[in-house]
Amino acid sequence: MSAHEPYETLDPENWDEMRALAHRMVDDSISYLQNVRERPVWQEVPEEVTARFGEPAPRDPKGAEGTYQEFLETIMPYPMGNIHPRFWGWYMGNGTVIGALADMLASTMNSNLGGGNHVANMVEAQVIDWVKDMLDFPKDASGLLVSGGSMANFVGIAVARNTKAGFNVRELGMQAATKPLIVYTSIEGHSCHQKSVELLGLGNANLRKIKANADYSMDIDTLKQAIADDRKAGFLPICVIGSSGTINTGAIDDLNAIADICEKEDVWFHIDGAIGAVAVLAEDIKPKLKGIERADSVALDLHKWMHIPFEAGCIVVKSEKAHRLTFSLTPEYLAHETRGLAAGNLWFSDYGLQLSRQFRALKVWMSIKEHGLDRFGRMIARNVEQAHYFGMLVEKESTLELMAPIGLDIVCFRFNPGELGMQELNALNKEILMQLHEKGIAVPSYTTLNDQYCLRIAISNHRSTFEDFDLLAREVVKLGKEISKK
Ligand SMILES: *Cc1c(COP(=O)(O)O)cnc(C)c1O
Repeated sequence: MSAHEPYETLDPENWDEMRALAHRMVDDSISYLQNVRERPVWQEVPEEVTARFGEPAPRDPKGAEGTYQEFLETIMPYPMGNIHPRFWGWYMGNGTVIGALADMLASTMNSNLGGGNHVANMVEAQVIDWVKDMLDFPKDASGLLVSGGSMANFVGIAVARNTKAGFNVRELGMQAATKPLIVYTSIEGHSCHQKSVELLGLGNANLRKIKANADYSMDIDTLKQAIADDRKAGFLPICVIGSSGTINTGAIDDLNAIADICEKEDVWFHIDGAIGAVAVLAEDIKPKLKGIERADSVALDLHKWMHIPFEAGCIVVKSEKAHRLTFSLTPEYLAHETRGLAAGNLWFSDYGLQLSRQFRALKVWMSIKEHGLDRFGRMIARNVEQAHYFGMLVEKESTLELMAPIGLDIVCFRFNPGELGMQELNALNKEILMQLHEKGIAVPSYTTLNDQYCLRIAISNHRSTFEDFDLLAREVVKLGKEISKK
């Protein structure tokens, strides 16, 4: 090779052209977010575009410009829609603008947060300190940023299992259990709890799904009875999972009552706070979450009600020792030194499954710095107010009905013109939902409560205005009437 030929790398051949393209990408992104309200909430990916995703990978360069053009045509117009002010499906977040930019900066630095003596680990440690502070957890508690609520719950339940099993699970595995280890959640608990107990070798037959009260919170007397029954049968209760905001209706379990039981029974108290834990930022809501500070571990989602761009979940564990004992493994090649890049005691790989880890802390750190925690609290409080506002619209409209008590920011309702059987009502409401999505009007999702199909809105949306809920109520009634006429 001649010395004059360019030396091939993955860097741009022309940095000025890449810089100009990058500016365009940023401009396009900002406009995209600024104008999000003007686009449909969701639209189907057209068939000719879908077909493009069957093409094999190119062997030769297509260039940055051409690749970006393809993104603009085939990808950017068809988002999930959760950035839109009228997206209230499942349980999402909008994202923050600075969070999107932070992701670019994080990828620019491209640090690996498994461990080591570099600033990204300090940023993550600080974000975790802020979370501990929010939850009134002690300063010496440990924590880890993870992909989301599912992983956060998995880590918490893993620590619970290893701490309470009564034998060395890491060495002997679940084969050494002389009796079933039992985990408790409520019937309204998230499906990720079941996945966790399955993957931790506990078996879903040993996950007790405790019945719920009329407000969908865990029935505490049934929990006490279940623990007593299991002890009598010779089983070992190890963990109760309380929910601070259930996925169906936003119900909050009586966290203090569960904490009392766990203390008395020497059982790990884990809280699934994927939805509600961050609501401690809203002064008026915080009292409802009393008892969260008594948990042994709390899983929370920052990509839901804190609007950090996906993915961002967090687990905090009160006993740093229990957390480290579950995950820490330090072979020679990961030895923690006292000097140089490999120095430092805080290696996040000691607290979870992942060794290589992305710099997800930066988007959290920058979002919190830009806005301050109180503003996040105000966004949360307004969503709860909007849930009650929409509830009022439902009560005022004779053809709409509320299907469950409003929990936090979640409203379950349906169109019911009267004189229809359950099957017909279920089909009618399902059709309303499909048309809301297909017409790009709004995205609620649905759930089934006592076999009845409900439209469900989860308002974790900092862009929704009160008028957006007027529009939803109006459109549901309009579609309902049109569909039932046919
Ligand atoms: C969303 C959710 C989860 C799962 O969290 P992911 O971030 O989606 O992995 C767990 N529990 C509850 C209550 C949730 O709402």
